[in-house]
Amino acid sequence: MYQNLPRDASFWRFLFSIDQDLAESARKEACPCGGRLHRANYPRKPRGGPGDLPDEYGYRLSFCCDRDGCRKRVTPPSVRFLGRKVYLGAVVVLVAAMRQGPSPRRVRELSRVFGADRRTIARWRVFWDEHFPQTPFWKVARGRLVPAVEISNLPRSLLEAFVRGDDDRQGWARLLRFLSPISIAGGLEIKVLR
Ligand SMILES: [Zn+2]
Repeated sequence: MYQNLPRDASFWRFLFSIDQDLAESARKEACPCGGRLHRANYPRKPRGGPGDLPDEYGYRLSFCCDRDGCRKRVTPPSVRFLGRKVYLGAVVVLVAAMRQGPSPRRVRELSRVFGADRRTIARWRVFWDEHFPQTPFWKVARGRLVPAVEISNLPRSLLEAFVRGDDDRQGWARLLRFLSPISIAGGLEIKVLR
């Protein structure tokens, strides 16, 4: 079972290469106004990763339309950054999952390994228990998962559905790619149900 993220830096480079692919697809589509998209990356200071996190993690890939009067910002989905959360997406999934289950890892231990404090980890639990299941993304996307993932057990059930052991980088990539629609602006908006 998963206990860790793949340790070596090549895992993080691999995720970056997926982000580059996602960004390239977005750039090719151009701006709806017909303008060309230019690189306009956001600086980021992600937390929770290893000490040898590649330099590319200092920014989130993003674009800006080159037409005066438009200048629209286009930020493609990401497998590295989960929206505006400062921690790496994989860490937000893994740490929250490790707090669950029959013998949850202790907060102190998780804090030591990933650098997230008690309150941050508690916020992630609220995110997965209460916020995420209500998102339009999840309501549609869960139907595509076979076997169906239990809502009551997120994000552990998601990890179990995608990742097969500590070094399953392909599994991690599939999981983070699955979640990547929530990494863009508006991707987490909750629709009010009537
Ligand atoms: Zn434009």
